[in-house]
Amino acid sequence: QAKLMGRNTCVTFTPDLEDKVARRRHVEESVVLGLATDRFEVHFQPLIDPTSDQVAGFEALLRLKDADGSSISPSEFIPIAEENGEIMRIGAWVLEQSMRAASNWPEHLFVSVNLSTRQFEDGKLVAQITHLLKQTGLAPTRLELEVTESLLIEQAGNVSGQLDALRDLGVQLSMDDFGTGYSSLGYLWKYNFNKLKIDRSFVMSLGESDERTQHILDTIIMLGHKLNMQVTAEGIETKEQATYLRSLSCDHFQGFYYGKPMPESELAPYLMDNTVLPLLEGQMQDKSL
Ligand code: C2E
Ligand code: MG
Ligand code: MG
Ligand code: MG
Repeated sequence: QAKLMGRNTCVTFTPDLEDKVARRRHVEESVVLGLATDRFEVHFQPLIDPTSDQVAGFEALLRLKDADGSSISPSEFIPIAEENGEIMRIGAWVLEQSMRAASNWPEHLFVSVNLSTRQFEDGKLVAQITHLLKQTGLAPTRLELEVTESLLIEQAGNVSGQLDALRDLGVQLSMDDFGTGYSSLGYLWKYNFNKLKIDRSFVMSLGESDERTQHILDTIIMLGHKLNMQVTAEGIETKEQATYLRSLSCDHFQGFYYGKPMPESELAPYLMDNTVLPLLEGQMQDKSL
């Protein structure tokens, strides 16, 4: 029996591995050529203020178009870009695109950009962001930077010095995917983040009438507020999830229920459909978003 299974696994394993190697090579090539061939695009997903039901800001999420028009997921290409170092150029490009876009939005909207640990390695990030703030004219308080705990675990370069310098610029720092890593609590205690984003796995398991999930969410939100952080719930897909979270005084909601990541050209129509028209009249039309 064992021998038979062994042989079977072996037979299917080889072609799988070849597929994986070919796929990796393909993605790697797309990543390397992506900027030059205009294959990257930044999409924006709304964050909602649940007390007013209005859009508070957008998270920038990178997209890579494949030659056949399909899309390669960032969960697949970001790790590859991190490995081969392309993330340095790509990350700088995402920052520039996002900050430029946001500088044309109404002033009450922020933009949130994901940073990879490697972007802290060469010690140039603070200067880069300082330069972009000046160039785009974006108010620093309207820029939010999302990092995950892997940054704090790996300690590439002088991470805490760079985080301090970013905070001194007036930029908001956000801890992304909170609750899934190893020692989140220690990092929250040690570093001052402005925001906490609860990983969507917790929100996903809401609505299965699981009291344990509710207690975890209650507790994370309370902890965030006690430490002076705003708390975002990610991955809200259903009305039931939104309804439950409403009872918990989250500061921001994010998820397909409110809006998927969309290209810049769709932001103005989205904002108008979402009853924020009075705030935006004049402002959005002028800027040809
Ligand atoms: P993230 O920063 O946690 O971003 C949220 C992810 O959850 C996005 O996936 C978003 O599309 C997805 N999402 C949002 N709402 C829902 C929902 O209701 N249901 C479900 N199932 N998913 C939802 P995406 O765009 O595929 O990005 C995946 C990850 O790739 C991001 O996770 C982030 O870690 C990374 N990433 C994306 N763009 C960039 C970037 O420009 N730079 C870096 N370094 N990483 C990026
Ligand atoms: Mg994020
Ligand atoms: Mg996240
Ligand atoms: Mg995530």
